Amino acid sequence: MKIGTLLAAALALISAAPGVAEADAWTLVIHGGAGDIKRGQVSAGKDALLRAALQRALAAGGDVLERGGKAVEAVEAAVRILEDDPNFNAGRGAVLTERGAAELDASIMDGKTRGAGAVAGVTTTRNPVSLARAIMDHGKQVMFAGPGADAQAKRFGLEQVDPSYFVTEEEKHWLREYREKSGSTAALSGMQKYGTVGAVARDRSGHLAAATSTGGRMGKPSGRVGDSPIIGAGTYADDRACAVSATGAGEYYVRVGVAHSICDRMRYLGEGPKVAADAVQAETSALGGTGGVIVVAPDGTPAWSFNTDAMMRGVLRAGKTPEVAIFRDE
Ligand code: ASP
Repeated sequence: MKIGTLLAAALALISAAPGVAEADAWTLVIHGGAGDIKRGQVSAGKDALLRAALQRALAAGGDVLERGGKAVEAVEAAVRILEDDPNFNAGRGAVLTERGAAELDASIMDGKTRGAGAVAGVTTTRNPVSLARAIMDHGKQVMFAGPGADAQAKRFGLEQVDPSYFVTEEEKHWLREYREKSGSTAALSGMQKYGTVGAVARDRSGHLAAATSTGGRMGKPSGRVGDSPIIGAGTYADDRACAVSATGAGEYYVRVGVAHSICDRMRYLGEGPKVAADAVQAETSALGGTGGVIVVAPDGTPAWSFNTDAMMRGVLRAGKTPEVAIFRDE
């Protein structure tokens, strides 16, 4: 091969390698649920608690990425913080089913391998996202539901809790109100019906990951499963395209296949993360679905899109100050 040809081949390789220009760049984007919540419906105290929790989640995931850890580790770390925080609809503090129980769903995906793990209807595993991760790492199955999912958690040695651990006084109160208002969440105001959590990341090696965790929708019938644990709907990651975590009216996000659609648009149409996210959100809106998504592109560009008044969200990039926001106008 001639020197010139060799040089051209080497240059082509360098420019094709993901993240060579941004070898040190990492990005973490998180959400804490979306909904039609106005400023006046959130007390100053609650607002502060929510923002502080988002900051803690960014710090936990950011620490992993800063020391060169994997994107999957970072999204799991960020989501665990929000699962443990009773102010979010995931893990402890999850919304309750019509019978007053917590049934938890979660999923995780590694964009490098396209390995995935998911669980639905978990009732005794403290951190459902870690169970999803253990299933993914085990590599044999992708999804477990109900008692069989909790049984896997025991097998993997993950912390088990009494189902009452997840049930907070605040959520019991909101369920009572929901029942009094004849099972209509529309009649309720404020944050109580939202708070699904998720994270997407791009690590220093240029790999992507996504994770989502939720208690589902307030007053849901036992056994109902939304988009959060469905790979391709609530969660998706592919190094060639993007990583996505969604929140909102799960039935619509399942029907549109939101997370996979966003990645498809980026991969096949060459759209950027914001354009792709807005396009798929528009499709979801056209069917009547409300909610939002967070996205990270292979080069670390973060994006979000939502059609509600608020989406709790945050972003942290290498060397930058963390940003968190709740309402549309910030
Ligand atoms: N998407 C979740 C579900 O439908 C709920 C939410 O994000 O608010 O289960």
